[in-house]
Amino acid sequence: MSEDPPRRKTLSLKPGVVVTRPLGPEPIRAPKPAKPAKVEPPPPPSFGWKCKPCGKGFDPPPDAPDDETVRCPNCNARIGIVGDFKQDPPPNRLRARPVKR
Ligand SMILES: [Zn+2]
Repeated sequence: MSEDPPRRKTLSLKPGVVVTRPLGPEPIRAPKPAKPAKVEPPPPPSFGWKCKPCGKGFDPPPDAPDDETVRCPNCNARIGIVGDFKQDPPPNRLRARPVKR
């Protein structure tokens, strides 16, 4: 009579074992999809001139006499006179530049 061989342990997954991710480097996350670039057309300028000192747009008074002083409605800088706006090209002393529409 021979002795019984030692019984091998059966490998079995224990129930209830939570399988976690294997140790190692962090999984590479997929890069977020780039947001679609919203290209919104800039609103059309509602003014014809831009103040050089402050960059705000404005319009010279249309009915004012040519020698009336025009001031920036935003920064109150003296832009020039109404007549300067009517020259083409505008004189250098005019502290505004025309806005291209
Ligand atoms: Zn200004």
